[in-house]
Amino acid sequence: MAAHIPATRQEWHDRAVNYPFEPRLFIDGELVDAIDGGRFESVNPATGDTIATLAEGNEKDVERAVAAARRAFEAGVWSRIAPRMRMDILLKFADLVEGRAVDFALLDSLEMGKPVSSMMGFDVPSAVANLRFAAEAIDKMEGAVTNTHPDVLHYILRQPLGVVSLIVPWNYPMMMAAWKLGPALAMGNCVIVKPAQQSSMSAVLLARLFAEAGGPAGVFSAVPGSGAVAGQALARHMDVDKIGFTGSAPVGGLMMRYAGESNLKHVTTECGGKSPQVVLADCDLDTAVEMAVHGVYSNQGEVCAAGSRIMVEEPIVDTFLERFQARTVALYAPGDPLDPATSMGPLVDERQHRTVSGYVEAGKAEGARLAFGGGVPAGMEGGYYLEPTLFADVRNDMKIAAEEIFGPVGAVLPIRDMEEGIVLANDSIFGLGASVWTKDLARAHRFARDVESGMVWVNTYFDQDPTAPWGGVKQSGNGRDKCMEALSHYSQTKSVWMSLGG
Ligand code: NAP
Ligand code: MG
Repeated sequence: MAAHIPATRQEWHDRAVNYPFEPRLFIDGELVDAIDGGRFESVNPATGDTIATLAEGNEKDVERAVAAARRAFEAGVWSRIAPRMRMDILLKFADLVEGRAVDFALLDSLEMGKPVSSMMGFDVPSAVANLRFAAEAIDKMEGAVTNTHPDVLHYILRQPLGVVSLIVPWNYPMMMAAWKLGPALAMGNCVIVKPAQQSSMSAVLLARLFAEAGGPAGVFSAVPGSGAVAGQALARHMDVDKIGFTGSAPVGGLMMRYAGESNLKHVTTECGGKSPQVVLADCDLDTAVEMAVHGVYSNQGEVCAAGSRIMVEEPIVDTFLERFQARTVALYAPGDPLDPATSMGPLVDERQHRTVSGYVEAGKAEGARLAFGGGVPAGMEGGYYLEPTLFADVRNDMKIAAEEIFGPVGAVLPIRDMEEGIVLANDSIFGLGASVWTKDLARAHRFARDVESGMVWVNTYFDQDPTAPWGGVKQSGNGRDKCMEALSHYSQTKSVWMSLGG
């Protein structure tokens, strides 16, 4: 029987009241308390109320999870079973995740403030699609026989890395975990997920569902805990073979350092951005405005690929600003995340609210013009809400154009032409996404070729698919989620020589 999907705000709230929140860690196939009894509070950013008190893993719990993962890996219960058996379990896992969409929506919405409608319409479907893609790819990842000397046979085996730790952020909690779990598990690794502390519960539910799907004990553990303690213990662990990281660039840098100071484990990073949207005068302006609004404000602006640097050709700046404001008012009103009609929730926590508000002040102080927003929406002082905000007359060297804000704050920079747009776009430490809006195909192709960015959108924004690489260049990171490339990142080749000589 299909699970009932709450249809109204009241029904979602009814579901949240008395919800059986699971406070424990999931290690080696079972729910366990933290060895030292550590606890932390999960806070609902829409209200400031405590949702649940959760077990906080530390080095000892990490040790237990890594040991279990190593045991499972070496026993071959996952790494050496027939690829199609792994596929069956992963497909079943994807089905179970899909079946529990309402639970995932509740957990992530309550913990980090994302609207339930976003969870039901995007995060959960994307997580499921990517898990299925990775499962289906299991028996398509092949080794090779190479063309060497006739007296030898040389072949390449593709093998799992071993124990992989996935350290993920809070902005798309279950979806980011799933994007990485799919390829890591598909290739036969054993994984330990360390979710962000602001959004821990969905990772534990994922691990439980994997076990329910028939995943052997130790293959997938989830250890909520702080980054500085549990995260660092994983990243420095001598028996962890890889860190798959999504988060901020500074912490991505720490991952590389920890790897360098321990066992040279593999590290792939998916970090932040300050993605440019270049709007040229010949474009379809209504569509450009619509997508630019989503690019800045969807998920409260807490999106790694948020198109937060909007460069607009000078002749159309005023019209652009006018329409942008009108569409923002129509599309993004902060509200209760549990109301299916809400498109914008609060920021994830008090600290993030302070950080983002600090950027608003910095924008004003540096002489940018506050076009709209910047304050706490009236009547919503109980949560960590911020109005959708836009600055005009921004220069690329201002703090609000150079740094990732990770909140609903856009910056509009006037440009003379596309060439100036490309120069400014590339004058950034980041390079995650970029878009150009134009009807001129040659200009669009030149932009796509010359912009320093892992992903480029032409006359659209945010499109994505399991087949398409997701990742950046420069300090936006070196990894690629999704697509066949991600499966390569969670495996390694072995070169085998057989003498055929007499
Ligand atoms: P973050 O502060 O870098 O944290 C990411 C993860 O790292 C969390 O699980 C965190 O745990 C952990 N961590 C923090 N310090 C650590 C340490 N010293 N050792 C080991 N682990 C540590 O990022 P966030 O604030 O959660 O997420 C926002 C960032 O993620 C933004 O920069 C955003 O652009 C980026 N992001 C990138 C992508 C992409 O695909 N490129 C996607 C989504 C988000 P705690 O929660 O305990 O701090
Ligand atoms: Mg929270």
